[in-house]
Amino acid sequence: MARYTSAVCRLCRRSGEKLMLKGDRCFTPKCAIDRRGKPPGQQLGRRRRRISDRGLQLREKQKARYSYGMLERQFRRFFTQAERQPGITGDNLLVLLERRLDSIVYRLGLADSIAQARQLVQHGHITLNGQRTNIPSCLVKEGDTIGFKDSGTKTEYYKALIQGIEGKVIPSWLALDKENLTGQVLSLPTPDDVGAKFDTKVIVEYYSR
Ligand code: SF4
Repeated sequence: MARYTSAVCRLCRRSGEKLMLKGDRCFTPKCAIDRRGKPPGQQLGRRRRRISDRGLQLREKQKARYSYGMLERQFRRFFTQAERQPGITGDNLLVLLERRLDSIVYRLGLADSIAQARQLVQHGHITLNGQRTNIPSCLVKEGDTIGFKDSGTKTEYYKALIQGIEGKVIPSWLALDKENLTGQVLSLPTPDDVGAKFDTKVIVEYYSR
């Protein structure tokens, strides 16, 4: 599956916001936004430009896309799916993004970032309802269980995770058995549960043109 492979801190600097794409590093003074918040590229002689409405919409959409580590085509596909569902398109989009398996693995605290969660899934370490699955974009449902494959529990990663999991905060719509590192989706999230860093209404406007 195609994915973004350049330095992810550039994406935060381009968005002008901390998108928390690098796990623990984002909370340290090493964070590129804290060190130098300017957009990437040469700054010499660069004048501050007024961003058009269209530019602001694009920026909001990119923020959402970067946050979930998705390429444009895949993000657009999620948007189309959200549009077809009854209800508010922006809210539907947010819930769909949160229902991605890589996103759930991250929210359960089984990975430090969505990128790491995606790698765990792609490498076959994660099971969904007891079945190994290596598709990070697959959508989970209420009642689904997520865990590690038996062979995954023998890795150093798993052992370190068991030791560090106690302090992790899990969203109220998910449950985690911290002894076996098995999670369950208690209910689907509401937009308020997610606390997104982007405005989905603006994203809808972007795609509505
Ligand atoms: Fe963004 Fe994290 Fe990099 Fe800071 S460390 S710029 S929050 S990805």
